[in-house]
Amino acid sequence: MGTCTRHPEKEARCQCLKHNVWLCDDCLRCRDPELYCKNRSACLIWFIEKRRKRLRRAEQAATALQAPPPPGGDATDGTAGCKTDSRDCAFGNE
Ligand SMILES: [Zn+2]
Repeated sequence: MGTCTRHPEKEARCQCLKHNVWLCDDCLRCRDPELYCKNRSACLIWFIEKRRKRLRRAEQAATALQAPPPPGGDATDGTAGCKTDSRDCAFGNE
């Protein structure tokens, strides 16, 4: 166990074998996903990052299903009622 390369005060949970650096929970992601990594199949950082991405995608899908109600319905009704009232008032005066 070491300390995070970017946060010396934090305890690092995983080691990036590609760059040979220790990463804390905040920094826990692959720095060069494009770069070939011979340790990737056994890389805990890569595994956690992949799992996190899948979770986020599932959350977005769930949010999209719960469509919010159409906005502005009350405001339109209020304006229409106001116009009707003033016209009634004018008719009453004549
Ligand atoms: Zn860190």
